[in-house]
Amino acid sequence: MADRFFPNEMPDFVPETTAGETITSNTRDSLTKLLYLPYNTLSEKLKRSALDLKETVVRETWGLGGKRVKDYTLYTGALGTAFVVFKAYQVTKNENDLKLCCEIVKACDYASRDSGHVTFICGRAGVCALGAVLAKLAGDEKLLDHYLTQFKQIKCPSDVPNELLYGRVGFLWACSFLNNHIGEGTISTRHMRQVADEIFKSGRQMANKVRCPLMYEWHGKKYWGAAHGLAGIMHVLMDMQLKPDEAEDVKGTLRYMIKNRFPSGNYPSSEGSESDRLVHWCHGAPGVSLTLAKAAEVFGDKEFLQAAVDAAEVVWNRGLLKRVGICHGISGNAYVFLSLYRLTGDMKYLYRAKAFASFLLDRAEKLISEGKMHGGDRPYSLFEGVGGMTYLFLDMSEPSRARFPAYEF
Ligand SMILES: [Zn+2]
Repeated sequence: MADRFFPNEMPDFVPETTAGETITSNTRDSLTKLLYLPYNTLSEKLKRSALDLKETVVRETWGLGGKRVKDYTLYTGALGTAFVVFKAYQVTKNENDLKLCCEIVKACDYASRDSGHVTFICGRAGVCALGAVLAKLAGDEKLLDHYLTQFKQIKCPSDVPNELLYGRVGFLWACSFLNNHIGEGTISTRHMRQVADEIFKSGRQMANKVRCPLMYEWHGKKYWGAAHGLAGIMHVLMDMQLKPDEAEDVKGTLRYMIKNRFPSGNYPSSEGSESDRLVHWCHGAPGVSLTLAKAAEVFGDKEFLQAAVDAAEVVWNRGLLKRVGICHGISGNAYVFLSLYRLTGDMKYLYRAKAFASFLLDRAEKLISEGKMHGGDRPYSLFEGVGGMTYLFLDMSEPSRARFPAYEF
């Protein structure tokens, strides 16, 4: 088990009051030095590193390929690069970033025109939704109209799954993204409601065989995690106006998961699985913790907050993964602490996010070059590679506004 992650040898907590003090001269370890830096000093370092990394990500995934797009997705492809550049624009307000972003999305629009995938992260909805938001920011009405028209032509076929990466909630998330950035009603409540109804209908049908109000399958497996399973589906459903019986089913599903978690506090990747190995956003405690934190915020129940805190403890102990990305890497796991910091204001969680980011800043490049850390199959992508680390570093400059990319609002 230990070969999936580095043992976390960083102090559990360093309060900001002592963080600024000079550390004793016998502490020469560069990572420890970063942990003791005042927050603003560290976040400046992270931002500088992120802006350099962004240039590398753009060069490797866009410039070197002659600006032709093979993989258009946000997950591993060009749209992920555009999302990183968009984040950089939000932090620095550099107009060149906005222009570059529009150019990349235009190429993604062309590359995805015949795609049957409907979601934000792995489908055409992501391209059209991000395109529309950029067009609005650039003040280009004609382009905005183009992307919104394209978006409205996306239909969820009846056999589409329900999960986040390829299914209905991944499409719903794109609708909410448009409504959040362009204005309520950009995508009508009625349209979103129809999709949500399908999700509840399908979840209640599948739940007949288990003691959980909602259950879903993807490729024959009842997944629990954020990418393909319950955690991701419940997360997106909580963005909707839920009817009382629907809210009860969401809460009941989360209580079922809490009751059936592993003794270690981690969560199975699928129903009935006894393998307590994965501590990823996609499978395991990190994705579930983000959903529970959201449930605590939406429903106000203390039991969800406590469960989110318990899951975050697993992430602190076993979440220093040997990968850098957000899907199954250290960067994604850092967002667990950022969500709890936002929810509770507890500085311990800000410190823990800072610790994971510091570990990456100090060691990721070296560990990858030495082969001790996996560079990712798509090493510069948003979800599997350095793109995700870049996004996290940019988010650390305003931690109370940090959101797991393409997942949290
Ligand atoms: Zn993953």
